[in-house]
Amino acid sequence: MTFATLGLIEPLLRALETLGYQTPTPVQAQAIPAVLAGRDLMAAAQTGTGKTAGFALPLLQLLAMEGPKVTANSVRALILVPTRELAEQVHEAVRQYAENLPLRTYAVYGGVSINPQMMKLRSGVDLLVATPGRLLDLFRQNALKFNQLQTLVLDEADRMLDLGFSEELANIYRALPKKRQTLLFSATFSDDIRLLAGQMLNDPLSIEVSPRNVAANTVKQWIVTVDKKRKPELFVHLMRKGKWKQVLVFAKTRNGVDALVEKLQGLGINADGIHGDKPQATRQRALDRFKLSEVQILVATDVAARGLDIEDLPLVVNFDLPIVAEDYIHRIGRTGRAGSTGEAISLVCADEVNLLSAIEMLTRQTLKRQNEPDFEPEHRVPDTDASGQVIKKPKKPKKPKTSGGGGKRNLGKWVDSGEAAPPEPSIKPVRKVPVFNTGPRKRKP
Ligand code: AMP
Repeated sequence: MTFATLGLIEPLLRALETLGYQTPTPVQAQAIPAVLAGRDLMAAAQTGTGKTAGFALPLLQLLAMEGPKVTANSVRALILVPTRELAEQVHEAVRQYAENLPLRTYAVYGGVSINPQMMKLRSGVDLLVATPGRLLDLFRQNALKFNQLQTLVLDEADRMLDLGFSEELANIYRALPKKRQTLLFSATFSDDIRLLAGQMLNDPLSIEVSPRNVAANTVKQWIVTVDKKRKPELFVHLMRKGKWKQVLVFAKTRNGVDALVEKLQGLGINADGIHGDKPQATRQRALDRFKLSEVQILVATDVAARGLDIEDLPLVVNFDLPIVAEDYIHRIGRTGRAGSTGEAISLVCADEVNLLSAIEMLTRQTLKRQNEPDFEPEHRVPDTDASGQVIKKPKKPKKPKTSGGGGKRNLGKWVDSGEAAPPEPSIKPVRKVPVFNTGPRKRKP
């Protein structure tokens, strides 16, 4: 199969030739003809599957072949994405694909001045990539009109819901023309996504290119159990032992990112961090330097790392496990792309046991444990398996007291007798159920 047999026009084929794309990926093979035929789409596809070209190529073709010329402040196709990084990345891909077409494309996102964006929109754009919050700001300030909108794409829809964009999406949805084509792309096909799809899509074609929620099997995954306070020390130990060269590290919070970067820099290790509090330019610079191998260790939160296009990353380290199990799949999707093998190591402490269990259940595999001598945790991480069970070890029965007192028996505890009781898991791996209209706003990690 070739891109030509999928029905793409010559200017797009030429652009693909320049980029060196020879064969359509499975998601492209399915999505391109369907979008060209005007169908709505609901596609479960992870980053790395070629999904961006899957929607962007036919979309650009429709814009070039059909519809009126764009008028002032109007937009004909809208791609909504969860983060600025993804907005830039998707727009960059679109720009390359549209190189030989007379179309205007642009990307808008928050965290930068709105005025240049308003100026740019004055003459109208054919295709706009946007994060939901900034798009609404522009709409409310009359910098944008949707009367010419013919296609809406929701990219990484699950992530938009996780980040609390459900209210913005509902507001945007209300402002759009009812008659339009809608394409929904999501790494995971959760029930929340199906609910969203039910509201936004019209008789969609469902595409699923990788097994649902199954982590890339080209990635060697394992965990090391450790006490929470010793994670930084263990990280440095593993780094030196494994002679790690380029590592993307995920931490749960912005403070966690800063603390680890500070610790590593203090040891003379070339590390940098990216998170939502850092200005866009700073994040981009850190990322560019990481790609050029000028930075060895890049520590990121899930949101900041979203949409980072780093190819052939050999190793991803989860310094903390993600709160939302699906993020584990996104994280390890950064390595082992396109058939190359990668490695994903997670440092797991006792109060992350429920998170671990949720990940194993989602990926339907028990993650291999590898103990690191001298780092065995005082607070044991209970055994888990892909059934979602935390396997509790009963306490050894106490010898009956000679006094015959009726003390409570505690057979349900999962610590060995004599072992200090670990802290109770503080975070439950509950996936936030988005209420499409009223969900709480939680945009930054
Ligand atoms: P995506 O899943 O859209 O983030 O794409 C992942 C990477 O694959 C990007 O770097 C694309 O440029 C690249 N890519 C997408 N489609 C193809 C293709 N058909 N052939 C070669 N590379 C591709």
